[in-house]
Amino acid sequence: MAFTGRQLAMVINLDKCLGCHTCTVACKNLWTNKEGREHMYWNNVESKPGPGYPKNWENMGGGFDANGNVQLGTLPTRDDYGRDPDYDFQNGLFEGGGIVNAKPEPTWLSNWDEDDGAGTFPNNYYMYIPRLCNQCTNPACLAACKRKAIYKREEDGVVLVDQDRCRGYRHCVQACPYKKMMYNAFTKKSEKCIFCYPRVEKGKANACAAQCPGRIRQVGFLDDTSSDVYKLVTQHQVAIPLHPEYGTGPNVYYIPPFSGPSQVDDQGRPLNVDRIPMTYLRSLFGDDADPVIATLRAERDKVTNGGSSAILELLNSNNRFSL
Ligand code: SF4
Ligand code: SF4
Ligand code: SF4
Repeated sequence: MAFTGRQLAMVINLDKCLGCHTCTVACKNLWTNKEGREHMYWNNVESKPGPGYPKNWENMGGGFDANGNVQLGTLPTRDDYGRDPDYDFQNGLFEGGGIVNAKPEPTWLSNWDEDDGAGTFPNNYYMYIPRLCNQCTNPACLAACKRKAIYKREEDGVVLVDQDRCRGYRHCVQACPYKKMMYNAFTKKSEKCIFCYPRVEKGKANACAAQCPGRIRQVGFLDDTSSDVYKLVTQHQVAIPLHPEYGTGPNVYYIPPFSGPSQVDDQGRPLNVDRIPMTYLRSLFGDDADPVIATLRAERDKVTNGGSSAILELLNSNNRFSL
């Protein structure tokens, strides 16, 4: 049944993301610092192009097919999330070793590929993408749950797992194409980002947004015409979802990166060629990436030429929450 309630949404401006992971730590400290959640980053920041977290999540399937049928994709393995090693503090710090070695030497962890990106020097490139549950309008996790343990709140569109009903079948983990539903092997139930609803209910912004030093996240109701989220998503249409082709109707929106310097020739002279290829941005954000980048560049040119831009003012606004 189509969702008819109010919807909270988040806009993330990728041009301003520092890749500092403060958002990830804020979420980790608040929500996933308990047993069974060691591998969980409800919020993570990944370098793109790259395998991301869990490793190669974009190849794991899920979402809906063209007929609207939910698809069960691959279940990530525990290693896909990365297994933290033990650190030999005893030898490194107290027995003269001098270096704290990891045991065993890890071969993969989340952010193992940080800043790797793609391309060849001097035209290599990467971008950061912070990711969290999209609080989808049409959640594949909910559609896949035979226990009906997942529900979407009418008052704000937040998608939650009823921990009393969940039996840990993990169909939701398979079906979420963003792999933002996670399994807790200690409680034997599935868990996910709760969009900080206990904070939001008190008028406080999500921890990942509140703590972001880059001030790149804006949160608000999509039907609140005074909110920056409404203006960026609906009015100006410069904020777009990640992988819209998955069919879940994400409510986390992104301003794609548009201000990177041009690629250069072997003498360092600008070639007037996009540093991050549009083909790559299209593969992430669909065909809407083209008009959005064109609009953002036109707005930037306006300001460069002494004019003003309502869109760029919104993107630089400190008015980040409208709850
Ligand atoms: Fe469910 Fe995944 Fe959408 Fe979150 S991102 S609501 S877990 S389908
Ligand atoms: Fe974590 Fe809250 Fe951000 Fe969700 S909204 S990723 S629970 S800090
Ligand atoms: Fe990016 Fe903000 Fe997260 Fe830092 S805290 S990585 S700037 S979203």
